[in-house]
Amino acid sequence: MFDLLKTDSTSKARLGRLTTPHGTIDTPVFMPVGTQASVKALDPRELLEMGTRIILGNTYHLSIRPGMDILRAAGGLHRFMNWPLPILTDSGGFQVFSLAKIRKIQAHGVQFRSHLDGSLLFLGPKESMEIQRTIGSDIAMVFDDCPPHGATPREVRAAVERTMRWAAECREQPRAPGQHVFGIVQGGSHAALREECARAIVGLGFDGYAIGGVSVGEPEPEMFLAVEQTEPFLPAGQPRYAMGLGTPAQLVELVARGVDMFDCVLPTRVARNGTAFTTQGAVSIKGGFNKADFRPIEEGCECFACQRFTRAYLRHLLNVNEILGLRMLSVHNSHFYLKLMADIRHSLASETFGEFRRRFIAHYVPTRKVLRERGAGQRPRDPAG
Ligand SMILES: [Zn+2]
Repeated sequence: MFDLLKTDSTSKARLGRLTTPHGTIDTPVFMPVGTQASVKALDPRELLEMGTRIILGNTYHLSIRPGMDILRAAGGLHRFMNWPLPILTDSGGFQVFSLAKIRKIQAHGVQFRSHLDGSLLFLGPKESMEIQRTIGSDIAMVFDDCPPHGATPREVRAAVERTMRWAAECREQPRAPGQHVFGIVQGGSHAALREECARAIVGLGFDGYAIGGVSVGEPEPEMFLAVEQTEPFLPAGQPRYAMGLGTPAQLVELVARGVDMFDCVLPTRVARNGTAFTTQGAVSIKGGFNKADFRPIEEGCECFACQRFTRAYLRHLLNVNEILGLRMLSVHNSHFYLKLMADIRHSLASETFGEFRRRFIAHYVPTRKVLRERGAGQRPRDPAG
């Protein structure tokens, strides 16, 4: 299912191709987040036009609304939302542990109250895999326990043990035809726990491996460290996925650390704050300095928004709360992420990734800095996108 085509000589970056029931995916790849069966503000045609090859859906949210009866009757999520290409589904573990009101953690899952109406629900390895089977995703994720940043070593150890046990249970569940299942490595920023968890999960044998427990509010150096502590224990011949990351500069740096797959809500979330990503960093389109700027968001950008509209017009739309404004910023930002990954793949194919990385980082003002100044810092993965 995964062909490792090339490995970079200056870093751990890899060029690969992933085969799924709904098509092949060139890696490194960015996966736009469609938590609630929609990538916020974008329709499938726009996603296809900007080069999207796989999107994310979410087990927790979809199981609550529209619910499994509707998804079953619709013939799965691809048909329900009219998306023809691959879908990866998150297992719901992250949402249960971060969103829901947990009642009781039990041997085979978690009893919790819905964040929506307080109804009592239960989700565990068996239930999560069954939902993902009904959804019909191309890649299902195991149900894991993702502790928050700042959890004590004892809590992280308990989460790792639960994650390993639940992964084994997920492994035994029936799958949708051709569905791949990825294991998840937890362990916070504890090297020994990361290694232990990675060895156990890899020992069970999955189609790919995710580095979980990142993008949970930890500082950037800690996030990089967690990836560096995990990567050496993942098999080279299978895809690696860093969950919920990251800023454009972080994506470049994570590719250099051997990661192949990414998902992040930032492109569409910051769009709703009036922020656009450019090769020089994130810029506020709402800012007064764009009032009479009749250039596109970024010169040379081939997205629908930059081909047609000026910063001055988009700023106006945002200021008067016209939906078109946030739609066009979502188009540009998502296109920017997808184009960045395409550029990374081209540089890997032509063996110039080292130079690409150096140049990109040199020009890019860290998103963190810009967003902090705007008071909209990167928050942990928000399932509502
Ligand atoms: Zn653009």
